[in-house]
Amino acid sequence: MSGELEILEAAARDFDLEAADDFVDLRRLTAVIDRLDAKRCRVVAVATKRGDHLLTGKSATSWVASECQMSKTAAANRLCVGEQLAGMPKVAQALSSGDIGFQAASVICHLQQRVVEAGGSTDEAMWIENAGESSIKDLADVASSTWHAVDPTAFKAKVEEAHQRRQLCISECGDMYRLDGWLELTAGVAVKTAVESLCNRLGESDRRSPKQRRADALVEMAHHAMDQGTLPRRNGVRPHIAVHTTIEGLKGELGAPASELADGTSISSTTVQRLACDGTLHRILKADSMVIDVGRATRAISSPQRRGIKARYRTCAGPGCHRPVSSTSGHHVDFWTEGGHNNLRKILPVCYFQHRLVHEGEWQVVQFGQGYKFIPPERPVVSRRRWGERRWAA
Ligand SMILES: [Zn+2]
Ligand SMILES: [Zn+2]
Repeated sequence: MSGELEILEAAARDFDLEAADDFVDLRRLTAVIDRLDAKRCRVVAVATKRGDHLLTGKSATSWVASECQMSKTAAANRLCVGEQLAGMPKVAQALSSGDIGFQAASVICHLQQRVVEAGGSTDEAMWIENAGESSIKDLADVASSTWHAVDPTAFKAKVEEAHQRRQLCISECGDMYRLDGWLELTAGVAVKTAVESLCNRLGESDRRSPKQRRADALVEMAHHAMDQGTLPRRNGVRPHIAVHTTIEGLKGELGAPASELADGTSISSTTVQRLACDGTLHRILKADSMVIDVGRATRAISSPQRRGIKARYRTCAGPGCHRPVSSTSGHHVDFWTEGGHNNLRKILPVCYFQHRLVHEGEWQVVQFGQGYKFIPPERPVVSRRRWGERRWAA
């Protein structure tokens, strides 16, 4: 055994990673790597069967993960392949000869494990042929379907087990929020489908990356749900974003204190203007920190104005944007602290992305004939189109 290892180590040393010749046959190289991985699977299966991990007090999976320096998921995969390959000589041979790759063998081994548990067996030759003709995804789908046919109860139990592992963490992380989550397949498809329906580029000037568009789509869905007013009340009020500001802060006057979210986070005057553009204003007068008067809540855009906007527009007024007017907010061309709220002609429906462009992105909205033009800021803005590539956009 050690003799074999020494030969392999010597061969690996001779295989110079820095060699000028990078024109290596990828299929042959992959076959060598997969063959070695299969050998590793066999070694870990035999070692754990022998009980080597017991000496360390670790579970078999944890021990393999630690010895092979890989995640527990990858370790569990190696253990399964190692155990099943011992009873599947044709699959082991196809893997050794490079006829099928490691991932395909892994799919077949996992299926074999499940089918054996249900008291059946798999047709090795047929699955080797399937692996040669299908992508890994298609092979995994067929294997999953086969497992369902053989053992629907175990299949359902696996789905339920995945459902129990669902989680979503939303945490403040410096000057950003971070989302981490796991969803069962059908739930993930629901979120992905909804996000993707809002992910298209909005006009020629939309230079967001797909990742940025997905992030905006999720935020747009949250705003839309809150704007609809159909979310359940908490402590007697509909969910909304509360901002504390002063009239000076709202106008963005120099020297005005920063406006704050309810948790005390400071936000810029342009952001507070965007949020207030189509929000509800509660006037609260204070003297020496004591509330002395609370005025009636006033909507920045009244219900008749909102109906008027819907009658005038079918879509977002932003350039090249087709977002339906029902998914937009009202933007005051003259900010409403300057009296812009009285004139319906000066309220435009804009989608979340373009409303942000107008406020935080410093785009100008100027009258042009009977309509309005959206003009980007003149200073050049660096936008990262693809990884490592930078472009300049006016
Ligand atoms: Zn606005
Ligand atoms: Zn738009």
